[in-house]
Amino acid sequence: MKIEVWTWGTGGPFGRELGTIPERRRRGHTATSIVISDGRAGGATAHYMIDAGAPAVETMIEKGISSPQILFITHPHFDHISDLDRLANSRMRGLMLRGGVRDIEEAKEIFGPLVVVGADECINHPSDGVRARFGYLEGLVSWRSISAYDTWHSVHQNYAGGRETGYVEIYRKGQERSGSNAEMTANMIGEEERATPSTGSESAIRTGRRLPLEFKLLPVRHSKHAPGSSIFVFRFRRSGGGQGVPEDGGGRLGPRNVVISGDFKSMEGWVADSPDLIDPACLVLDSNTIRASGKYHASFEENRSLIDRWTTGGEEVLVLLNHISGFGDYLEGFYDGVPDDRDWQEAVDGYAPKPGVAIKIAEDGSCHRII
Ligand SMILES: [Zn+2]
Ligand SMILES: [Zn+2]
Repeated sequence: MKIEVWTWGTGGPFGRELGTIPERRRRGHTATSIVISDGRAGGATAHYMIDAGAPAVETMIEKGISSPQILFITHPHFDHISDLDRLANSRMRGLMLRGGVRDIEEAKEIFGPLVVVGADECINHPSDGVRARFGYLEGLVSWRSISAYDTWHSVHQNYAGGRETGYVEIYRKGQERSGSNAEMTANMIGEEERATPSTGSESAIRTGRRLPLEFKLLPVRHSKHAPGSSIFVFRFRRSGGGQGVPEDGGGRLGPRNVVISGDFKSMEGWVADSPDLIDPACLVLDSNTIRASGKYHASFEENRSLIDRWTTGGEEVLVLLNHISGFGDYLEGFYDGVPDDRDWQEAVDGYAPKPGVAIKIAEDGSCHRII
């Protein structure tokens, strides 16, 4: 099994400043993907996208990555959803072309909408929620709000008429019903099973596959116009060990987490203390400034204590700093202008994390293999 983290866009919301020398190259709004393949040529691939800031779709096309099965939204700020319309439409058109379908209504029926997952308030807040802004995409997207924080959810992709479709069911862990076995098993790509959806048509029994991840949301404090702001924790079980895959411990086939923060200033103690944040294979961390402590974001200097808190030195952890802005560093006088790439690298080089912890400044359109 191979797991890659792609960072499509890594900039802050306002990118570069008009009328200034354009030496800063970072353009993309925030968007990240986790792409899993089973390692075999032509084998199954699963693609989970987290946030959809522009120009994620164009970058994905350039890099040859096809559309995600699910989009997770950390919070409803524009720089995290600015490419959602394009993503939903581009996905459907791509599927129509590849499947030889020319009728849009038929295509919606066959392929299903793009599943968009977020905290309840993030999706449904009447004025600030994603749905309030993109309600016109109904039919091309299917909104799935998660009401329970700190609870694992699993994902099931259906086959209809013998072909894989975009119809995705999300289960709260422990509430799945799959054949005679209610427990999660090995969770491998391509695993066939039958499931009764917890939502939608109650009597429908569909065949499909468990996607090889579980996920949970943890709440964070960001801005009052970003209801439901969350960190996502993804847990992957590695194939190869069958049903004997160990549940924990340092064995190579044990599950590893990938943690992706949206924007945040702080979080409650129980969130920062969550064992699910300890030693993830990859931690993508909002680091809006180097030193300036703004109202809505943590700086890299503030994040250093989180990195220390969430790593033990006993595992390899890749930390990717994203949402790079630095305008606050200029505002507060830490730098003469907005810090450039060299300033960021100097800040990273000036910090010694625990053994096994690598810190990188995420780049637009880059790929990191983590497993
Ligand atoms: Zn943002
Ligand atoms: Zn934000």
